[in-house]
Amino acid sequence: TRIGVVRETTPEERRVALVPKIVPSLSKQGVQVVVEAGAGAGALIPDDAYVDAGATIGDPWSADVVVKVVPPNDAEIAKLSAGQTLIGFLAPRNADNKIGALKAAGVQAFAVEAIPRISRAQVMDALSSQANVAGYKAVLLAAQESTRFFPMLTTAAGTVKPATVLVLGVGVAGLQALATAKRLGGRTTGYDVRPEVADQVRSVGAQWLDLGIDAAGEGGYARELTDDEKARQQQALEDAIKGFDVVITTALVPGRPAPRLVTAAAVEGMRPGSVIVDLAGETGGNCELTEPGKVVVRHDVTIASPLNLPATMPEHASELYSKNIAALLELMLVDGKLEPDFDDQVLADSCVTREEQS
Ligand code: NAD
Repeated sequence: TRIGVVRETTPEERRVALVPKIVPSLSKQGVQVVVEAGAGAGALIPDDAYVDAGATIGDPWSADVVVKVVPPNDAEIAKLSAGQTLIGFLAPRNADNKIGALKAAGVQAFAVEAIPRISRAQVMDALSSQANVAGYKAVLLAAQESTRFFPMLTTAAGTVKPATVLVLGVGVAGLQALATAKRLGGRTTGYDVRPEVADQVRSVGAQWLDLGIDAAGEGGYARELTDDEKARQQQALEDAIKGFDVVITTALVPGRPAPRLVTAAAVEGMRPGSVIVDLAGETGGNCELTEPGKVVVRHDVTIASPLNLPATMPEHASELYSKNIAALLELMLVDGKLEPDFDDQVLADSCVTREEQS
């Protein structure tokens, strides 16, 4: 079996789906790795590093299995042919996903987003590995935009109070944001609609904000709130947010627009100089005044909504992602041949199109 590692062409995308470190263990399983020239360039990995690890530089698109980070565009799909397998983020829940095109091309595709959130699959969980990067980087961005210190400072020139940081939506990214803000010396608080998260929030030294809304849904995700719950939540958050220097939002509901947690009125109620980092920009944002991909100042509050933060830390983001991909590949490889067992829940769930289906 040949595995092809492609060079990502999406602007700003600096990650690569497999780093050289992973190549020897794949070789041991009897597969060959073919890397497109420059595939690692964004992550500062030279082609030579792949060659030294036992890969060859060549055309990845003719390999049996093509591994990618972001969904393929039409030109990339045109390079694939029937019988090939594609693994990567495929945005299966986005209305404009390319799964129909992949199916029409006879390509078998696995979407890492669809890997079930079960313990056995944690090592393959690319949503989690990349969310960790985003949560960490969101805090650094908030610190960068802030007019205030995060830590408490006791200096000859006076004492500075620690920043207060509120994280709305405490999944993987939110939990990492809380931990990172704490390490920077902030006083942290977490909020989520899944009450089970309270203990995790406390375990990273943060306070738990309880607004009395329980919206735990399927598979460890949240459900969408009812209109009445939404109104109650927005009102309660409007009151709570006033006291915070920094608000980081990460709330998502699978397949739905991002829940609106921070209203324009809530922004107006914040102290001038406060910062909001909205990680939900890709699905519309958690803040009413968010402009996805931009940093704007509204009512003297800076609102940043960075897109694709994992791509801004290509080295570690690629390393973690590679581990996810290698684990998924390992699950499908039998004596060096790709033989996915679709009785396995992880493979059945993550496979979004294959020949047997019609
Ligand atoms: P996510 O990115 O889908 O959502 C982020 C957070 O937003 C979630 O915690 C969600 O509850 C919250 N949220 C949604 N609507 C909200 C609202 N209206 N108000 C406030 N918060 C709202 O979540 P995720 O990071 O993908 O994690 C989802 C769950 O899966 C977590 O419990 C996580 O611990 C779990 N998980 C399990 C495994 C595993 O066992 N393999 C791996 C990763 C994650």
